[in-house]
Amino acid sequence: MKTMTCRQLGGPCDVEHRGETADDVINAQDRHLKEAEKAGDAAHQPARDDMKSRWRHPKKSLGWYNAAKKTFADLPES
Ligand SMILES: [Zn+2]
Repeated sequence: MKTMTCRQLGGPCDVEHRGETADDVINAQDRHLKEAEKAGDAAHQPARDDMKSRWRHPKKSLGWYNAAKKTFADLPES
């Protein structure tokens, strides 16, 4: 298992997401951003909008996705 924070995934806070793969933590971040949006958390709105546009333009977002995967790969196991 590895841990990535909201901040490492482009968000504004230090909530930690744990997962076996980069996709796990990216999906956890997606849920976290959705919940923040529902709660009316303005600080998370820009990250939420970025994430939404990533799902809409997956090809354009490959750079971000690969960078997140690389960050995850370089993390120590915990
Ligand atoms: Zn957050």
